[in-house]
Amino acid sequence: MIPAPFDHITPASLDEAIRALNSHGDEAKLLSGGHSLLPMMKLRLANPKLLIDLSRIPGLSGIKQEGDKLAIGALTTHYQIESSELLKEKCPLLPQTARVIGDVQVRNRGTIGGSLAHADPAADLPAAMLALGAELAAKGPEGDRWLKAEDFFLGLMTTALNPAEILTEIRVPVLSGTCGTAYLKAPQQASGFAIVGVAVWLKMDGQICSDIGIGVTGLDAKPFRVRQVEEQLRGKKLAPSLVEEASSQATHGMDPLGDIHASAEFRAHLARLYTARGIQEAVRNARLY
Ligand SMILES: Cc1cc2nc3c(=O)[nH]c(=O)nc-3n(C[C@H](O)[C@H](O)[C@H](O)COP(=O)(O)OP(=O)(O)OC[C@H]3O[C@@H](n4cnc5c(N)ncnc54)[C@H](O)[C@@H]3O)c2cc1C
Repeated sequence: MIPAPFDHITPASLDEAIRALNSHGDEAKLLSGGHSLLPMMKLRLANPKLLIDLSRIPGLSGIKQEGDKLAIGALTTHYQIESSELLKEKCPLLPQTARVIGDVQVRNRGTIGGSLAHADPAADLPAAMLALGAELAAKGPEGDRWLKAEDFFLGLMTTALNPAEILTEIRVPVLSGTCGTAYLKAPQQASGFAIVGVAVWLKMDGQICSDIGIGVTGLDAKPFRVRQVEEQLRGKKLAPSLVEEASSQATHGMDPLGDIHASAEFRAHLARLYTARGIQEAVRNARLY
């Protein structure tokens, strides 16, 4: 349980961090909260020669409103998200999701940027990113670019970030109109990671669902957006029978993971059940933003 020897640097700027990452290639790893990377190093599943610690780079942490978006710095911790009054008021799906991550120690250290870049298939925040249609900012030697959440998660612990890119900021919409949100998960009892987690955001126009986003984590090697369910509900009155019927399609075409924590069949069942329940909960808590 002791990592292999490594060097540790604390760059004072993003440019300095990118230069270090670019020049050390595979031998270097970025360090944010360390709550995924350090356990992997202790298990010798990761053996970086150099840790590039992002904690001293100014401007990478915090939550602010910019027009109709909420900008969240990559180093913002799960606890900051869970307790943000701005997010509770303008985009409560993120606090609803962050508050069920691991335990208080994990939430105090772990960051949104680290969680998204790590792309653990059982991580919670990716489901909320997909439901909300979040945009992710990356900065690398070639400059800055924005990625859509749906294009970001490529597979098991694999993202669209290039090797020398740093995830710097996440943007989610400020909710407007009558909206509801919900995050439901079945946690793995020891770690709290999602056996299955379902995030729902929806907008109501009277009795009609005018828009909806649903993200699922834990079921597959990467989180995914359940477009086939969304399409059946958009523009419709959300009668319980329609919600049940549409949610039964949540795992259509998927090949769910099975492991010691849950069989593939049980995961699929949970994903369908939580999709229906998540939609119903979001309808119940819908309010004017
Ligand atoms: C006991 C325990 C329980 C947990 N339970 C849960 C849970 O229930 N739900 C859940 O979602 N998560 C859970 N986690 C994981 C936790 O949320 C981590 O904090 C998160 O996965 C990684 O964030 P971090 O800031 O610690 O990243 P780090 O561990 O520092 O980094 C993780 C990876 O991302 C890379 N990286 C970090 N920051 C950036 C960046 N800005 N740009 C590009 N690459 C970057 C690193 O190089 C590394 O490869 C748990 C962890 C532990 C130890």
